[in-house]
Amino acid sequence: MGRILLAATLLIASIGTSIVSAQGPGWIRVAFINVGQGDSIWLHGEDQYDVLIDGGRLAAGPTVVAYLQNQGIDDLDLLIITHSDSDHIGGLVSVLRSTYTIEAVADNGLPCSTSICQTLTAELVKRGLTPTPLVAGQSLNAVLINLQVLNPQPILSGDDNEDSVVIRAVHGQIAILLTGDISTTAETTLMANDLPLQAQVLKVAHHGSKYSTGENFLATVQPTLAVISVGDNSYGHPAPETLDRLAASGAQILRTDQIGTIILYSDGNSFWTAQATYAVFLPLILREFSSPPPTPTPITLPSPPPPQVRITHIEYNPPGDDVQGEYVEIQNQGENTQALTNWTLSDQAGNTFTFPEFLIGSGQFVKVWTKAGSNDSQNLYWGRNQAVWNNDGDCAYLKDHNGGLISTYCYPP
Ligand SMILES: [Zn+2]
Repeated sequence: MGRILLAATLLIASIGTSIVSAQGPGWIRVAFINVGQGDSIWLHGEDQYDVLIDGGRLAAGPTVVAYLQNQGIDDLDLLIITHSDSDHIGGLVSVLRSTYTIEAVADNGLPCSTSICQTLTAELVKRGLTPTPLVAGQSLNAVLINLQVLNPQPILSGDDNEDSVVIRAVHGQIAILLTGDISTTAETTLMANDLPLQAQVLKVAHHGSKYSTGENFLATVQPTLAVISVGDNSYGHPAPETLDRLAASGAQILRTDQIGTIILYSDGNSFWTAQATYAVFLPLILREFSSPPPTPTPITLPSPPPPQVRITHIEYNPPGDDVQGEYVEIQNQGENTQALTNWTLSDQAGNTFTFPEFLIGSGQFVKVWTKAGSNDSQNLYWGRNQAVWNNDGDCAYLKDHNGGLISTYCYPP
């Protein structure tokens, strides 16, 4: 979806102005796309505002394009190039050669001369795109998400990794710190400059390099979750000492080389992945950064209420062919959008359907059909060629991604 805000130029404000969105937080999704060695991060708002940060290596380009296509997005509102290392920009060549409209591009402003960078620049020129150089203190309005630019500093160091664009993506009470490939040198500068660094989610710098993610930096960021985007490499990423520092900080570590693409959801108050729900967050002072931010006090929220998702109907004996007509209807009766990703629906005989990546809005229904078909926002298809639901009585069990029973529906009553 094209947005007026970024249609021609980036709307850049200083950090500290109008951070809180007037539209309410809505929900957002952040995918750390598994590109092997490299970074590629997609931020998507409920409002269809899309930001892509980096694109992995040249060979990963088709993966990134296919991933975005599978998510059904129609254009990229903003492309951010953190720095010109090949494992960050290579895949962007495919993105630029794809059919996506790209509304705006931003980078770290450092000239580059490698051949992959020249290829990328040529593709940008073909599209008539000129990257806007980002600098610490700016704030980009991505509608539901505020992107605070924390690096590079006004005077560039000249080192491509140290001058990586660092973004703190703020969604309501949730902050996600995306650190490019900076090392402890730049981390020290960010802390010395009193930039807002607290974040529940940290994209670990430089694929877990031992020269990044220092103890002091972790103590400042206080992440609950650390994401490492990494694949086969000859540099020893992620380094055991960095993993140790992360573990000592109390952060949970998720790695793309171990679990593939990592998808995070936020409703502005809490965040969760397909793996877990994180109910603990730090209250973040978002309005005033000119004075040093007060030390946040950790707050432990009560456990989130169980998902209010219910099986509301089973069409087990439809007119005509059972396979073609059978479905289970499920409704989200809660107030919040709920991720059903990796949830299961099973019958008494143990036949089990696993939900794909899927969100259900408050009050919304979804039908899980026995037959095959193309999934959409209201219909999911099991793809079976025989009936599931017994005509003379059966039970359906809806379980969350941890196997917790959420709803049971038996018939005849
Ligand atoms: Zn890198």
